[in-house]
Amino acid sequence: MAKRGKTPSLIGSGAGASKFVTAKGKRTCRRCGEAIEEGERCVEVAVPGSLGHRTYCLGCYGDILGETAKQLQKLRGELQSRR
Ligand SMILES: [Zn+2]
Repeated sequence: MAKRGKTPSLIGSGAGASKFVTAKGKRTCRRCGEAIEEGERCVEVAVPGSLGHRTYCLGCYGDILGETAKQLQKLRGELQSRR
């Protein structure tokens, strides 16, 4: 098998890259609009095509992960049905 190098990830860089951070100031969750207080844990998700990111509270990030898992499962299903 040809050498393919490091396996890329759909969420490893660029779109969907996520980083758990501690809020350095007051922030607002991009999805639910709730305030994220300074010192609270939240997640920064990279915005494709920019150097920016969106901040989500942990609750919303859980929902986002769930939705992502659903989509991954669908992709996996498509992959399997095409073999
Ligand atoms: Zn939220």
